[in-house]
Amino acid sequence: MGFPKSGGNGFDRLYREVGRADISRNLVEAELVTSVSWLIKLRWIAGAGVLLATWIVHALFQIGAPIAILSGIGVAILLYNTFFFVSERRAKQRRASAEVFQSLAIWQTALDWLAMTLLFHYSGGVESPAIWYFIFHIIIASIFFPRRTAFLLSVLAIVLVGGTVFLEYIGWLAHHPLQNYLPVALYQNPLYVLGVLSFFSTTAIFVTFLVGSIQERLRRREAEVIHLTEGLQRATIRLQAINDISKVVGSTLDLKQVLERLVETTAKAMGVRACSIRMLDKSGHYLEPVAVYGLSQTYINKGPVDALTNPLAKETLSGKVVNIPNAPQSPLLQYPLEARQEGIQSMLSAPLMGKSGPMGILRVYDVKENRFNKEDEEFISAIAAQGSIAIENAIAYQAMSELDKMKSQFIHTATHELRSPVSVTRSLLRTITAGYAGEVSEQQKEILERATRRIEFLQKLIDDLLDLAAGKVGKFVAHEMQPISLKEVIEKVVDRYKIPAQEKDIELCFRCECPEEKTYVTATVDSLDRVFNNLISNAVKYTPNGGKVSVEVQPLDGEIHIAVQDNGIGIPEDALPHLFSEFYRAPNAKEMVTEGTGLGLAITKDIIQQLEGRITVESQVGVGTTFHVFLPVAHLKNQTPSPMEKRS
Ligand code: ADP
Repeated sequence: MGFPKSGGNGFDRLYREVGRADISRNLVEAELVTSVSWLIKLRWIAGAGVLLATWIVHALFQIGAPIAILSGIGVAILLYNTFFFVSERRAKQRRASAEVFQSLAIWQTALDWLAMTLLFHYSGGVESPAIWYFIFHIIIASIFFPRRTAFLLSVLAIVLVGGTVFLEYIGWLAHHPLQNYLPVALYQNPLYVLGVLSFFSTTAIFVTFLVGSIQERLRRREAEVIHLTEGLQRATIRLQAINDISKVVGSTLDLKQVLERLVETTAKAMGVRACSIRMLDKSGHYLEPVAVYGLSQTYINKGPVDALTNPLAKETLSGKVVNIPNAPQSPLLQYPLEARQEGIQSMLSAPLMGKSGPMGILRVYDVKENRFNKEDEEFISAIAAQGSIAIENAIAYQAMSELDKMKSQFIHTATHELRSPVSVTRSLLRTITAGYAGEVSEQQKEILERATRRIEFLQKLIDDLLDLAAGKVGKFVAHEMQPISLKEVIEKVVDRYKIPAQEKDIELCFRCECPEEKTYVTATVDSLDRVFNNLISNAVKYTPNGGKVSVEVQPLDGEIHIAVQDNGIGIPEDALPHLFSEFYRAPNAKEMVTEGTGLGLAITKDIIQQLEGRITVESQVGVGTTFHVFLPVAHLKNQTPSPMEKRS
């Protein structure tokens, strides 16, 4: 009993993304990664700069300085930068965590400050022009680290500079002046030392404050952007999920399938354990379970849900999304004990609203307490709205199909009843025309012949209507179909039209380019006869005297292609889209042959579709028409072809 385990799939993933809120973390991480590599690039310049400056000082200006030590500092900067460069590359490759980049940043800062202090000390201490380079480091630290840390670091800079200057002043640390740079030694001049130190300290603190403020403002803006981006991203993903759900649900008009797909996709998209739909019964009194995903049968059959008294149902059907954070304890639940047994802790209930009011309830369930938030409520509300449309469409389609079936059934019954009186009238008319009921004058004969023609047309109409109705109510049931030789059927139809063709001096030919055993299709003889009788009779009918009609059969990629071609009156372009509609006749056909039911092609298409084939037409007025029929080849292996002779 209880919930099944949910599997990983597209919807699960989608929903996990919906609930994800680590965009800000990602951005901060991305910023850290970029800053670390930016600092490394900068350090190549700094290291090279130290070496170059040392050389310039020494070679160009002949200023005396501890060249070896200063160059050593430059080389050391380049060396540890190489180490950081390699480490950063590796960390990027293995997509290391933010912590790795963080520690890289801290180590870099520590070494930079050490190098800077040494540079300051060996280039003259308080007399060193390099003292202002500390400011760069303070700026970098203020960008990199939080404000408090940045202030602490600038205090550290003041301490390092102040400490070095003080130790040199009292003689505990050797002073390394830049010879030929200053005319007099200043490192033991208290006023100068105090002046430099106080200006350096205030500059350091002010720069830290300034950069920190700018940085803080930028960070606030960034946070706003992140917040908006997060909201947008979540909204996009949710929209995408809703779109996916409507696509999946809308891809069928079968009500049962719509409901089943709706519960499954909703459960997966929201990452919840179960989902159900209950629809109001005809009385509008009870809510019946119609589709369930992830709930046990025991829970589904827990008892009737009365829409008029059940508090949760009442509230949901009033049009609200109801969020139940702790199901077993909710006063809204009619069956709290059963919910506890099922392991349900949270529920979210949304109304399925039709055009004329509530139709039912879409509900999701989860094992976690307090599982759903405002966004989930909006999400399920949107799904329920989409689902309601799909459900209403499916219900309407179902009703229409039933109506259509009833209509076909009616036509079938009515025409069937008409058939025998019409047929009797026809033979009576023939008997009278032939003079068996007494002598008939020429004038009477002519009237009788006209009446016969009309009655024959009526009979054809009845036959067509019967066939059409039969097609719609599923005449060619699968078990009645068997492999039939198409070649034989068509030959018979062609033979039938030889005399009418001769009467119009029309050349009627038939060609079959493949062996007979390759022309078997799964069908009934009647259905195939009806199809080709319609097409060939039309070709002969709509081809003027002296024309040509040909029928060709050839195999085509697992199908059989039959082309019925004529060089008759053709079909106007604007008539082509209506050709297979019931009772449609093109104007040029009406002009040429007054009598016609306009049902033949509708029946033909209907039959071909039942045989899982297709029909297309190519035509040009005054040039001719070709109907192409494609039917799947029957596999004869375990089937015995039925001899045509037996059936016809
Ligand atoms: P009917 O032949 O009784 O009019 P069909 O359903 O068989 O009805 O054909 C529908 C219409 O398609 C015809 O009225 C005619 O306009 C057009 N049509 C069908 N076959 C041909 C053809 N071979 N040549 C020209 N028009 C055709």
